[in-house]
Amino acid sequence: MLKRFRLEEPESAAEVSELLGRFGDSAKIYAGGTELLLAMKEGLVQYERLINVKKLTGLSALAADNGAIKIGALCTHHQLETSALLQEKLPTLVKLEQNVANVRVRQAGSIGGNLCFAEPHADPGTLLIALGATMVAEKSSGKREIAAANFFVDAYETSLQADELLTEIRVPTPGANSRSAYLKFGYLERPSVGVAVALTLNSGTVNDVKIAVGCAGPAPKRVAEAEALLNGKSTAEAVSLLPQAGAIAGRAADAISDLHGAQDYKEHIVGVLLKRAFNSMVG
Ligand SMILES: Cc1cc2nc3c(=O)[nH]c(=O)nc-3n(C[C@H](O)[C@H](O)[C@H](O)COP(=O)(O)OP(=O)(O)OC[C@H]3O[C@@H](n4cnc5c(N)ncnc54)[C@H](O)[C@@H]3O)c2cc1C
Repeated sequence: MLKRFRLEEPESAAEVSELLGRFGDSAKIYAGGTELLLAMKEGLVQYERLINVKKLTGLSALAADNGAIKIGALCTHHQLETSALLQEKLPTLVKLEQNVANVRVRQAGSIGGNLCFAEPHADPGTLLIALGATMVAEKSSGKREIAAANFFVDAYETSLQADELLTEIRVPTPGANSRSAYLKFGYLERPSVGVAVALTLNSGTVNDVKIAVGCAGPAPKRVAEAEALLNGKSTAEAVSLLPQAGAIAGRAADAISDLHGAQDYKEHIVGVLLKRAFNSMVG
């Protein structure tokens, strides 16, 4: 059962930060509540105060801005899966969002809540790492940018400071020769393994390869060693190296044995998804 709590209704990021600083561990940001209220109802976490951020203007904005797509942290999954701008500029993110959770969770749940909760079996973080996204964190004293690859620290842990909130995600607008893919596999409610690949394809050569793996281990991460193996290669050469790249990515995933599958099984699936994702872009 949900225990009693106080609801704070700040109207600016600075106010949110001030409340987080003042009340410390006894307060938590509340966005869509799809993770937070569930965890509180089940008694896994308890907070005396919830800081409702839904009144903050601008946090639901979604716009093209100076070579990037700005996604407000409060944008719901539904907003992202139905956005014409994203369909034009980042169709891979739209497809990912269409397959997050269920209709009810996508209506209420925000992208910011997904990223900040850092539940290991989540989709968007993996793709955002491969797309070279940046997270914008704010507190009373100002803003800072965190590369998506440095945002996730461990299961349920991000690099946000205790008095910071996530306000925006900035994704560089992909160029004309850019391609990206995100594939996941799972048979439970949430994904067991996710792999994202982004690259540019110029005259049969692959460049700017970015590979990220998620869900298999505690946190999504970039796999620089596999990227280096494929970068600058002809598509035929890169395709022949995919088993090697897949094995590297599988090991890098920090896969753990759990209800979703055994460690070696997940490592194998990483390789399978990497191969399929790559082939879908260069085939
Ligand atoms: C049944 C179910 C199935 C799901 N399946 C999937 C799936 O297949 N793939 C997937 O990716 N996800 C899945 N999810 C996760 C879902 O995407 C998240 O529940 C949702 O996005 C969380 O957003 P929220 O706004 O409800 O966050 P809340 O529950 O409000 O908050 C979650 C956490 O993030 C913190 N927080 C929220 N916003 C901010 C902010 N701006 N700055 C700092 N901290 C913040 C809160 O303090 C809290 O700790 C599933 C969830 C459920 C319940």
